[in-house]
Amino acid sequence: MKILVANLGSTSFKYGLFDMQTETELARGGIDRIGQEADSNCAVMIGGHRQEIQRPIADHAAAVQMCLDQLTDAQTGCLSSVEEVGAVGFKAVFAGKLSGVRIVDDALLDAMETLADVAPAHNPPYVKAMRQLRAAFPAIPLVAALETAFHETIPEEYRTYAVPHEWRDMYDVRRWGYHGASHRYIGTRMAQLTGRDDLKVISCHLGGSSSICAMEGGVSRSTSMGMTPQSGLPQNNRVGDMDPFALRLVKRLSGKDYDTLLDELASQGGLLGMSGVSNDLRDIEQAAERGNTQAELALKVYAADIKRYIGQFLAVLNGADAIVFTGGIGENSTRIRSNVCDGMDYVGLRINESSVQNPEASERRGETETLSEGERRISTGDSRIDVWIVPTNEEIVVARQTMNRVSRVQGPE
Ligand code: ADP
Repeated sequence: MKILVANLGSTSFKYGLFDMQTETELARGGIDRIGQEADSNCAVMIGGHRQEIQRPIADHAAAVQMCLDQLTDAQTGCLSSVEEVGAVGFKAVFAGKLSGVRIVDDALLDAMETLADVAPAHNPPYVKAMRQLRAAFPAIPLVAALETAFHETIPEEYRTYAVPHEWRDMYDVRRWGYHGASHRYIGTRMAQLTGRDDLKVISCHLGGSSSICAMEGGVSRSTSMGMTPQSGLPQNNRVGDMDPFALRLVKRLSGKDYDTLLDELASQGGLLGMSGVSNDLRDIEQAAERGNTQAELALKVYAADIKRYIGQFLAVLNGADAIVFTGGIGENSTRIRSNVCDGMDYVGLRINESSVQNPEASERRGETETLSEGERRISTGDSRIDVWIVPTNEEIVVARQTMNRVSRVQGPE
C-alpha cells in the first residue's frame, strides 16, 4: 500500500509518499506560502529530482492537487494514478477526547474546529485541508493520527493540573502532551539500536517547537507540553510555561485585553521574545557570538529549562538509560547540547562530541543496528547514561499508523 503523509502549517504543506511494503520513501516535497503571492516558485522532490511548481497556489487542496499531478506525471512521476494512494495520513494535533488514530469524519472535524483555541496555529489549516480533500478525493480514506495519542499512558498524577475539579471534569483541562509521533519514533528507534525493549529514555525534541518526554519501554510516562502546545519549554515564538497570574497585572498596566495578551505570548514570546533577535536559533547563536546579551540570555534560559525537565524526568523514571536529542536544534546545536549536559556528573553523565564511534565498543554495549544517517552516540564510554543524536522521522510513524488504521477498516471484521 502507498500512503501519503501530510504535514500542514497555516500556509505550508509538506508531504512524504511511502511504499509501506518496504517502508521506502518514494517522494517528498513541500509547498509554502499557500494563498500568498510570492516571487519564487517552489519545489517538490520526486525520486531525488527537483521539480518546480507554479505559483500562486490558492489553498491546501490546490497544493495537494499539484503534488498529486506531479506524482502522477507520465514522465517524472512515481505513481501511475491517484488511485494508487491507499490513504492520506495527517499528523493532526488536537481533538480532545477524540484522540488515537481515526478515520476523518464529521465528528472529528467538528471537534477539531470547536477546540481550535487549544491549537490555534494547527487545527484550522488541518480542518480546512481535510474538508477540501474529502470533497476532492472522496474515494481516498483520510486518517488523523492525533499527536496526543502517544501520551494516553501518562499516569494521572503526571497529567492532572491542580485546577478546580470542574475544570478537569467539564472542560478537560489537563496535560495532554504533543509531539507524539516524534517521541514514539525515538522510543522505537532506540529499542532497535540497542536491542532492548525496556529502555528508560528521555527524548528531547528541540525544533521550531520543543518538548521533552520521559518514556519507559517505548511508552510515555510524562511530558513537558501540557494542555496546549504553547506550554512546557520555551518554543520558537511561544512562551512555554509561565505563571498565568502575571496576565492580570499586565492587562491592567498595558490596557490590553486577555486575547491580545495571549496572542502576544503565542507569537512574540519564546526564543523570539527573550532574544529580541529572531525565532531561529541559528540567528540567536550568531547574535550571542557578536556579544548580544539578550540573545545570550535566551540561549541560557532555553538550555536551563531543558536541563530542569531532564532532572524531573530522571526522577519520574528513577534514572534513565539514554537521553536523545532530535529536531533541528537537538540535532544541530552543539552549544545547546553541551549547555544541557554540562554539570550532570551527579548522574554520571559525560559527553564528548568529537569522539569517534568505535564499532567494537558499540557491540560490547549491545548496540545491534547499523546507524542511519545523522545518528550517533555522543556520550563517553564511561558515561552512566548514554546520550544520542537521532534524527526523528514523524512521517514514517504516521504512515505506519495510517496503514494499520485503514487495514482495520478494510480487513475482515
Ligand atoms: P520544525 O519544528 O518547524 O520542524 P525543525 O525541527 O526543523 O523545525 O527545527 C528548526 C530549528 O532548528 C530552528 O530554530 C533552527 O534555527 C534550528 N537549527 C537548524 N539548523 C541548525 C544549526 N545548524 N544550528 C543550530 N540550530 C539549528
